[in-house]
Amino acid sequence: MIEEVIDNIYRIEIPLPGNPLKSVNSYVIKDTSRNLIIDTGLNRKECLEAMLEGLETLGVRLEESDFFVTHMHADHFALAGRLAPESSRIYFSKGDAGRAGRADLWERMGEYAGLNGFSEETLEKALHAHPGYRYGWKQQRDLTLVDEGDLVSIADYNLLCVCTPGHTPGHMCLYDQSKKILFSGDHILEDITPTIQCWADDMHPLREYLASLDKVYSMEVELVLPGHRRIFNDLKKRISELKAHHTGRALEAMQALKHGPLNAYQTASRMSWDIDCPTWELFPPSQKWFATGEAIAHLRFLEEEGKVERHMAGGKIFYNLVS
Ligand SMILES: [Zn+2]
Repeated sequence: MIEEVIDNIYRIEIPLPGNPLKSVNSYVIKDTSRNLIIDTGLNRKECLEAMLEGLETLGVRLEESDFFVTHMHADHFALAGRLAPESSRIYFSKGDAGRAGRADLWERMGEYAGLNGFSEETLEKALHAHPGYRYGWKQQRDLTLVDEGDLVSIADYNLLCVCTPGHTPGHMCLYDQSKKILFSGDHILEDITPTIQCWADDMHPLREYLASLDKVYSMEVELVLPGHRRIFNDLKKRISELKAHHTGRALEAMQALKHGPLNAYQTASRMSWDIDCPTWELFPPSQKWFATGEAIAHLRFLEEEGKVERHMAGGKIFYNLVS
């Protein structure tokens, strides 16, 4: 599906088969000399075909296009490597570049998952089903790194890079101040809640995410172009809802610990999830992965707030309420 959003900005809906996200939004800004493609899709056939068909309909040639990736997740980033000719730039956030480029990223995340309660068997299944593991970035090529305050100008638009860590450590939004447009990536979505997961002890995703929500709240925005689902207008209202959501989730994680210490995997099994599955045991391994990552993010936030503390037992990290 392709729609014209506003002058020279188009949205191509790229399908994500079998993924609860359903699709990712790729935005194309057309200009007379160069075009800009914001976010792309997974490195898989279905995404590639939808993208090529969309670009053809719009009369956009890859040789005349540059790319901007809001964050390192494979559904936004991976296809760019396959699409972008050598002569095209791929703008990528400096904050995500270090992590995305790590050869041992999956190995480290797997180790951390084990520390947080995953059995080896479930972990193996979860990793192999993970879209980032299966359809991730494969190419080795140069990226054009951007940071807070950098400007990407295209057509009539002056897009300011705004660091919004949380969903990923280097997540980046693009903001046109005079036109009051925000490309929000997965920082702010209207129909679904951006997932906030923690997969390393040096990450503080929920604390960073809440600060990034506050940062964007003060901006004047009339049109939000998100990474998934519907385009929307009321940014401030959505930010308030997302903040309330995380307050509720943190309370739920605390509630789970009421009867004694749990690791994050066990905590996740006692929280509620918006998934059509009667019991935790029946969750697909990949959903157990996302749920546990979110539980860790909330537990570590509570730890930073002094409400929860952790200890090691039997080689795993356990959390308990501070009495
Ligand atoms: Zn994402």
